[in-house]
Order: sequence, then structure tokens, then C-alpha cells
Amino acid sequence: MEYRRLGKAGVQVSALSLGSWLTFGKQISDEVAGDLMTIAYENGINFFDNAEGYAGGKSEEVMGKILKAKNWDRESYLVSSKVFFGAEPKGPNRVGLSRKHVIEGCHAALKRFQLDYLDFYFCHRPDVNTPIEETVWAMNTLLQQGKILYWGTSEWSAVEIMEAIKVAKENHLIGPTMEQPQYNMIERNKLEKEYLLLFRDYGLGTTIWSPLHSGVLSGKYNNADPGDTRLHLEGLDWLKNRTLAETKIEISKKVTAIAQELGVSMPKLAIAWCLRNPNVSTVILGASKAEQLKENLTALDVLPLLTEDVMKRIEDVLQNKPFI
Ligand code: NDP
Repeated sequence: MEYRRLGKAGVQVSALSLGSWLTFGKQISDEVAGDLMTIAYENGINFFDNAEGYAGGKSEEVMGKILKAKNWDRESYLVSSKVFFGAEPKGPNRVGLSRKHVIEGCHAALKRFQLDYLDFYFCHRPDVNTPIEETVWAMNTLLQQGKILYWGTSEWSAVEIMEAIKVAKENHLIGPTMEQPQYNMIERNKLEKEYLLLFRDYGLGTTIWSPLHSGVLSGKYNNADPGDTRLHLEGLDWLKNRTLAETKIEISKKVTAIAQELGVSMPKLAIAWCLRNPNVSTVILGASKAEQLKENLTALDVLPLLTEDVMKRIEDVLQNKPFI
């Protein structure tokens, strides 16, 4: 496993990490979740990603139980939560980024995890109903109390992140260390364009999500819909409609042909493509089966195959490189 600094921060994150969205507490049994975490940990993954909103809070409970049962050295792993969407039950002050919910949400997440502190705590989305200053102060209270070690954002605009950095600087507080954007062959704009100055001037780290664009870039939808996937879970029609667009499947088909020529699988190529970007601190993997995770964990081996020539051929297929 390769370890990367989280932007300019001193903490080292495994280049591949494991997330729990739609899987833990929902699509898979707790036993499979335990197997996934064990495979991940034994292969050098040191970061497990979670959020208060995943499976209404159940995802954190499941992960917490596994961590307790495994009894791994607390210094050997990093665990995150994200605040904004709220766990169950929801309520006007159980969502968003107010000081009340940021602090109470952290306490509730720690309880579900049965942990004393979170390594990473993300603002899961921007909150138009809370001044950024209020959220920055709340995060710093938690930092001072040792309940979180680093805080960051997810899917914030560069302007919003800049505002948080400015507020932090003016008040001698700690600003966001990392952002969690979607990044894959289909969604590239934030990471490859919008955040460039934040990387260059502020050393922002990134923990990127959906490297396979919810599975479409695994190539398994190329010829027919396999049917037994997350896109068929109840209530996820919005994700299915967004993910299974013809243009996206077309991209997957064409890149799969390049993967075949290279002698590697499509998921490995798609994940390695993300890893090749130096502004990616860690690629968060998702998996519903042990075999998927085992395959994805070998994506680092594909990096040496991604020569300038191969990258250009992929680019010719994608036709979506942001203009800078
Ligand atoms: P991916 O885009 O990589 O999708 C993962 C899913 O693709 C798996 O659960 C599985 O689903 C399928 N899959 C994975 N590997 C293979 C394989 N080798 N062959 C075939 N199918 C495969 O990542 P996620 O969307 O899961 O995102 C990763 C993590 O990022 C999440 O767990 C979460 O922690 C984080 N995240 C954060 C968000 C945010 O807003 N901050 C939003 C979304 C995710 P199936 O078997 O059902 O097809």
C-alpha cells in the first residue's frame, strides 16, 4: 500500500481507503461488512469513511461494532464521520451545519461508533442556512476538545472553502484540511479545475468518492444490467437514472476496450486513473462483495501502465478534460 499526505497536513492516509455508503447497514450483512474491513485493514488500508446520514446512522453503528470486535490499535486507523444530512430521527436542529448540530452530531456519531474521537469530520454539504463563520468556530471547538483531529468539507464550492479558510485565518483558527469531492472519469471539474488554487496555495487534501461512478465504470453495465446492484435498491431510482445514462455506458465500453488491451480489468483501470492525479490524497473504494474489494485493492499495480500515451488514448475517449 502507498500512503499519501492529506494535502499539507502531516497525517498519512492510505492511497486506497474504504467507504460504507449504501453498503454497511443497508445492502450487505454485518458479517460481509466485517469481512470487507478485515480485508481492507490487512492490505494496508488505514482510513474508513462514514457519515451520520449513511443508513440513518446504522452504518456508523455497524462500523463501530466491527472496530470494537477487531480491537485494532487505535493509532493504526483513521475513521471519519460527516455532518449535515442528519441521522434518524430527523428534525430541524438534527440536520445542517449550525453550531448546535455540528457539536451534537459529533457526540451522536461518537456514541454510535463507540469511539472517543473522530480523525476526520466533514461538512457533508454546504449549508445555506448557517453562516460559514458559525461552522468554522464549531469545528474548532471540537478540535480543541480533542473530539475530532481534522475537519473538512464535501462538495463545497471553491468559494465556500476559501471563505472558511479566510474566517479561520482572521480568527487564528484551524481551517478545513481536506475536501471530499466526487472524482472519476466522468466527474472531473471540481478536482481538475475549480480547486486548483486551493491545492497550490493552501495545500488542501482530498478524499475522493465514487471512483467507479457507483459501479458504471466497473464495466458491468456495458452489455446488460446485471440487476443485483445498488442501483436496484429501493428508493434509489434517482441514482439509477443519474448513473445509467447512455453516454456514460458508452464511455465505459470504450475505456474497457483499452483496459483489455492493457490486460487489466476495467475497475482497476478506472481506480488507477484517479490515483494518478497527484491532488488525490486517497481514493475511497466502495464494495458490496469481498471479491470486488480484493480486485480493487490491486489497482495500484496498474499505475506504471498509465503512460502519457495511454492517458492520451483515454482522454480521446472521455472528451471531458476541463479547459484551464
Ligand atoms: P464506487 O463508485 O467505486 O462504487 C462502489 C460500488 O461499485 C460497489 O459498492 C459495488 O456496488 C460496485 N463495485 C465496486 N467494485 C466493483 C468491481 N470490482 N466489480 C464490479 N462492481 C464493483 O464508490 P462509492 O459510490 O461506493 O463511493 C465510495 C465511498 O465514497 C462511499 O462508500 C462513501 O464513503 C464515499 N462517498 C461520499 C459521498 C459524499 O457526498 N461525500 C458520496 C458518495 C460516496 P454493486 O455491487 O452494488 O454494484
